[in-house]
Amino acid sequence: MNQSLLSLVNLQKIDTEIRKEEIIIKETTDAVNGIRGNLSAKENTFAEEKNLLASTEKDLRSKERQLEDVNAQMAKCREKIYKITNQKELAAIDEEIKEAKKKKASYEEELLAIMERIDTSSKGVNTKEKEISQESKDAVGKLAESEKIFSEASKKLESLAVKKEEALKGVDASLLTEYRRIAKSKGDCAVAAMRDGICGGCHMAVPPKLANEVKKNDQINRCENCARILYYPDTIPADN
Ligand SMILES: [Zn+2]
Repeated sequence: MNQSLLSLVNLQKIDTEIRKEEIIIKETTDAVNGIRGNLSAKENTFAEEKNLLASTEKDLRSKERQLEDVNAQMAKCREKIYKITNQKELAAIDEEIKEAKKKKASYEEELLAIMERIDTSSKGVNTKEKEISQESKDAVGKLAESEKIFSEASKKLESLAVKKEEALKGVDASLLTEYRRIAKSKGDCAVAAMRDGICGGCHMAVPPKLANEVKKNDQINRCENCARILYYPDTIPADN
């Protein structure tokens, strides 16, 4: 086995593993952000609904005070009736009582409507509270799971970084430049296994003459279609 080729295969293997772990980290981070975002959106809605309920309760208290005031006004009018001395005063008090009664009826109606709103709103708030409490519990479990996956992937990445540093020592500079250039332009691997005469990078058939050369694993061969460095996995030592 050509030593340069073996070093590149080894490096590619490590880089592929690194890529896999990086994807896991990205997906886990996205999942965690999703869980947190969802929960925080729900909590915001819940807070808004609680505020609405509080302000409706405030409306209720203010309407109750208005009702008390109009009741007091009516009581005063009744007292005044005993002290009137002429027809004109009587007419004025009658008018005041009539107006007060109208107000009272309208306040009572408004109070009922407010109470209905409070009833609906507090039921909604209670339901949301239960939902959020359940979802928070679920989220704790999911977040813990994600954290475990994240930390395992991070550990693997750390040990892969050490391995990679070691592997890089075996690759000569010009091949490394080529390797990086191909990896960057293809967005995945620079070194591909040839199986059943097919390039593992671009999945095109390797011409028979080149395929025979690749099978020997004794020099650097490149796929004529995608330019990836080809090797034959069946004769690669098991450790690599
Ligand atoms: Zn190819």
